[in-house]
Amino acid sequence: MKHIYFNKPHLTGKELGYMKKAVKNGKLSGDGLYTRQCQAFFEKKYNFGKVLLTNSCTDAIEMAAMLCNVKEGDEVIAPSFTFVSSVNPFVIRGVKIIFADSAAENPNMDVKQIENLITPKTKAIVVVHYAGIACDMDAIMTLAKRHNILIIEDAAQCIDSFYKKKPLGSIGQLGAFSFHESKNIITGEGGMLTINDKHFTERAEIIWEKGTNRSAFFKGKADKYEWVDVGSSFLPSEITAAFLTAQIDELDKIQTKRKKLWERYHKNLKDLSAKKNIKLPYIPEYATNNGHMYYLVCNSRNERTKLIDYLNKNSIQAVFHYQSLHKSPFYKSHYKGAELQNSDHYSDCLLRLPLYYDLNLKEVDYICEKVKEFYTN
Ligand SMILES: *Cc1c(COP(=O)(O)O)cnc(C)c1O
Repeated sequence: MKHIYFNKPHLTGKELGYMKKAVKNGKLSGDGLYTRQCQAFFEKKYNFGKVLLTNSCTDAIEMAAMLCNVKEGDEVIAPSFTFVSSVNPFVIRGVKIIFADSAAENPNMDVKQIENLITPKTKAIVVVHYAGIACDMDAIMTLAKRHNILIIEDAAQCIDSFYKKKPLGSIGQLGAFSFHESKNIITGEGGMLTINDKHFTERAEIIWEKGTNRSAFFKGKADKYEWVDVGSSFLPSEITAAFLTAQIDELDKIQTKRKKLWERYHKNLKDLSAKKNIKLPYIPEYATNNGHMYYLVCNSRNERTKLIDYLNKNSIQAVFHYQSLHKSPFYKSHYKGAELQNSDHYSDCLLRLPLYYDLNLKEVDYICEKVKEFYTN
């Protein structure tokens, strides 16, 4: 068996063609034809109020933090079991992060605990839909309304995933997606901000364009092009948008294949899960699966280390990720909250198996065979 990598970026084959056209168009900076086409595609397909392409999901969350007007002393609630970009854009602005524990059944924030974390200083909640599997958004939106708090969906892993038929990233006031090469559709580095509350749209376009009214000016809505607010350079070049166009063309095909691989893992590992107390991804009734990630939750850190080694010896690269942010070298001295047992448990025991478009069912069967072999020996 040849070595099975954890991830392989998938190319549809049309990327260079579109990029060549973008170059021929002679407009390479952002907000050109390809950018607008991509934005319109996502707005239409997923009912987002407004989409702005960005250079990363991190950038999109950075824009969200600016749009929320957070300042020193404010508080933002976020899960501890997530990527640093869910919270860094707020920390930069002097915000105190109130970390929430994960649920027992999956790594998403435990919604029942959120209300206890809300104070008069709470400005926003960053909701992370782990592995593209939705959090209970009705419960969260109800809380948010009652306490007048903004909801930002870190939907980095969530393209083409839904909560009760609503696309993820379309429910909170703001949402952030990633097109990093580890996600379902990619541009190497890339992302987008979704704006579902109209009153943020105009300012989002200004922040996106370095704090200028360039967008309004070119639409004929301003008579001068000038500096009107804070901002930065968040928009990607047309070359990136052209690359994304090729990925979008095959979105449905990519999703079908990824979900098929995911289902195969799930079917193959069901028995083992019952026998050895290994937890497989749990998808609540209100959520869909977008085939972003397949993971196991082992019984201990030691068991996970041994399983990774065993798979590695059999030419399979498996990985773990997220170490609880409240215990990170950067944040632990600031953290004064409670123990977050579930978050720590996922940090110690969650293991990710290879899942990407160019993987095949035979390879998934082989990986599952080796996982089972490890647990029977
Ligand atoms: C990948 C990821 C990010 C960061 O995305 P970038 O596009 O690399 O900035 C943020 N949050 C989560 C949950 C992610 O999975």
